[in-house]
Amino acid sequence: MFEIVEKFITLSGEAPIIGSPIFLIRFSKCNLNCAYCDTGYHTEVNEILSFDALKKEISDVIASYPTLKVLFTGGEPLLNERREELPAIIECFPETDFYIETNGSIHITDFSNHNSHYIMDWKSPSSGHHNCFNRDNLKDIRITHDCIKFVINQADLEWVKEKVRFIQRIIPKLPMYLSPQSGSIGLKDLAEFIINNRLPASVSVQLHKMIWGKDARGV
Ligand code: SF4
Repeated sequence: MFEIVEKFITLSGEAPIIGSPIFLIRFSKCNLNCAYCDTGYHTEVNEILSFDALKKEISDVIASYPTLKVLFTGGEPLLNERREELPAIIECFPETDFYIETNGSIHITDFSNHNSHYIMDWKSPSSGHHNCFNRDNLKDIRITHDCIKFVINQADLEWVKEKVRFIQRIIPKLPMYLSPQSGSIGLKDLAEFIINNRLPASVSVQLHKMIWGKDARGV
């Protein structure tokens, strides 16, 4: 059974599909407790769906909007039995691209469907969980499908510089994104940090907050 906080059609707020129409499904609960978490409501369980019920909902939405991508987010989508069930759901829709936002602490080995894409956080020190990253994920992440994202503040800059250069050495061409924690570092400062340090990373912004406001839900 899938415990769900909310689900709706919206535009993706973040890289690598920023601005794209998506069917967002937010699963309940998380194994981390980041200091800057802006989805504390991930503890809510507002709907419980069976495998078949979730599959039908996705099927119905895609039938009405065939070019939609599907985004699994949370909370942590890969928590517990969802590790096994989500890849099976994805296999049912080979023509649709699925994006899975995961916090990087759970090994993704078994989740490499051809139409799945992992947006993997490597939690920064300011989250309180930078030691939770599962380094086995660096063996299985795919440069053709997946990416790594760092959500950072000013105090994380030296740390993230070292991590981006490390990944560049071991997985050349893996897409990497730096996303500023809300209000903690200016976009201009972040852009100049990337350029001045010659980092192979892109800036990501939370577009949905710019469109609908930082506290809006259900959009
Ligand atoms: S991993 Fe994501 S959902 Fe979980 S506590 Fe951290 S920011 Fe919140």
